[in-house]
Amino acid sequence: MLEHVQCDVTTCNSSEKQQFGEDMAVRKKLIAGNWKMNMLHTDGAALARGVVAGAENASCELLLCPPSTLLSWIAETVHGSTVRVGAQDCHEAQSGAFTGDISAAMVRDSGASHVILGHSERRHGLGETDSRVQAKVEAAHGDNLVAIVCIGETEVERDAGQTLEVLSTQLDGSLPTSGTITGANTVIAYEPVWAIGTGRTPTLDEVRAAHAHIRAHLEASLGEEALQVRILYGGSMKPENAEKLLTIENVDGGLIGGASLSAENFLAIAAAANV
Ligand code: PEP
Repeated sequence: MLEHVQCDVTTCNSSEKQQFGEDMAVRKKLIAGNWKMNMLHTDGAALARGVVAGAENASCELLLCPPSTLLSWIAETVHGSTVRVGAQDCHEAQSGAFTGDISAAMVRDSGASHVILGHSERRHGLGETDSRVQAKVEAAHGDNLVAIVCIGETEVERDAGQTLEVLSTQLDGSLPTSGTITGANTVIAYEPVWAIGTGRTPTLDEVRAAHAHIRAHLEASLGEEALQVRILYGGSMKPENAEKLLTIENVDGGLIGGASLSAENFLAIAAAANV
C-alpha cells in the first residue's frame, strides 16, 4: 500500500525520496476551491483573507480559483501566505481575436499558478471536447501553469456501467501525449458530473475504484511518474463527508465548489485532509 508523506512532490528532497523509496507516493494533499461565477471584490477578498487566516494550521496545499475578474486581486490578497491562486479556464491560443477569453499567459500574469481545465460545466454546458482540453493543457504548461484536468462520467454513463471506460477515454483525449506530464505540472480531478452541486456523492467504494482506475491508467502511459500525479475528488464534498473521502487510497485532495464559498467550511475540509 502506498504511504502518503507530508512533502510536496516539488519540494520533497532527495533524502526524503530515498527514505520512502523510488516507487513510494509523496503526494501532498491539495484542497482547491472553485468559486465558479461567484464573488465581487469585497466579499472575495474577505473570503480569501479568511482562508489565509486558517492556512497556517493546514498541512495540505490550499488553492483558490476565483472568477477571472478577481484573479489579480485575490493573488494580491493572499500574497505572502501559502495559499495559491488558480483560474477556472484559459484559451488554448497565445493571443488573438477570442472575445471574452483569457490566455494562459494572462492567467500567469495575474499572479495565478494553476488553472482548472475541462470542468464538466464547460464540457457539458459549452461543448468543450477532449481535444480542446488537451490543447488548453498544452497552453497552460507552456506558461508554467499547473493544469487541473477534470474528468468524470454522467449519470447515464454510470448507470450504463461505462464509468471506467469514460474516464480512460477522457484521460487519453485530454492529456498531452508528448510525454510532458509530471506530478509538478498536472493534477487530475475526478468529478462525477451527477455529483457536482447536487449533494449526492458516489459510495466510498465507487470513489476508490475510480481513483484506482485513474492511477493505473496514468501508470500505463507515464510509468513511475504517475505516482507523483495527484488525483482530487470533486462533487459535493463538504465538512461532513470530507474525512471519509480524503482518506480513500489515491484520493489526494478535493476540488470543492459550493463549500469553498465559506472560509469556515473550506478550512474544515482542509483540516480533514490533515489527518
Ligand atoms: C465543482 O464545481 O468542481 C464541484 C465539485 O462543485 P460542488 O462541490 O458544489 O459539487
